[in-house]
Amino acid sequence: MTLRSILKDKRRIVVKVGTSSLTHPKTGLMDLIKMERLVRELTDLHNQGKEVILVTSGAIAVGRKTIGMKERPAELAVKQACASIGQARLIMMYQKLFMEYNQIASQILMTKNTLVNEGNRENARNTFETLLSMGAIPIVNENDTISTYEIQFGDNDTLSAVVSALVQADLLILLSDIDGLFTDDPNRNPEAKFIEYVNQVDEHFERMAKGASSDVGTGGMATKINAARLATSAGADMIIANGADMSIIHRIMDGERIGTLFKANRTDDFYLIDYLDAPRI
Ligand code: GLU
Repeated sequence: MTLRSILKDKRRIVVKVGTSSLTHPKTGLMDLIKMERLVRELTDLHNQGKEVILVTSGAIAVGRKTIGMKERPAELAVKQACASIGQARLIMMYQKLFMEYNQIASQILMTKNTLVNEGNRENARNTFETLLSMGAIPIVNENDTISTYEIQFGDNDTLSAVVSALVQADLLILLSDIDGLFTDDPNRNPEAKFIEYVNQVDEHFERMAKGASSDVGTGGMATKINAARLATSAGADMIIANGADMSIIHRIMDGERIGTLFKANRTDDFYLIDYLDAPRI
């Protein structure tokens, strides 16, 4: 049994898509074909009897396009207003597409405050569990409209790992605009080598990760490595793969050797809050 071949037996799967995987690079407008394929892939996983959670970015990008703003907003209030407009649109589009397949979908918006307090964390976990038992695919994003610096995760790579840990998912798939982890930034260094498998996320890999190179999303390789540390310590396998073609989701599940696979290494005393830069309440 190889690690790739057991992926098909995973039962609870979190899939994260970044803004750059959902928009046309030239215009920044939504790539509806990709979105449609993503929804079809996720519904098909669900039809196989798996539990599926989607963590999606795109709120701010969609909001900013809706009001015709050219640059990424810098001011907090403007960012939050864009997120408020964009998140509603994003969910409307997802709902429309999921409905075509008669798939129940729901929305969960989180901040760090959803987690740091024991009671809140339990409540969030129960909500996820109940939604999954109802056969819904929860669609998760950060609550960008109200989250300020102190209570924000800051990027959806981290958020998706947090969600994986919270619900004890057994697989996290991060879809990005890069094929996986390389020994160096492949855009700048042609010698950079692809890494297919990571047994243990250690400092060596943390050093390897480079900063963000994407114009629309917020996560770079560094946030992905952090997400890998969190998700694998919580007991999930994690894969970073290229979301240019959303059919990669079923190819990963079929055990094809694509993307970088990080092996789960559950630590016995895993405590989610230790991984969040947040006070214990
Ligand atoms: N939550 C942000 C949004 O939906 C994106 C964060 C990220 O790309 O990591 O616009």
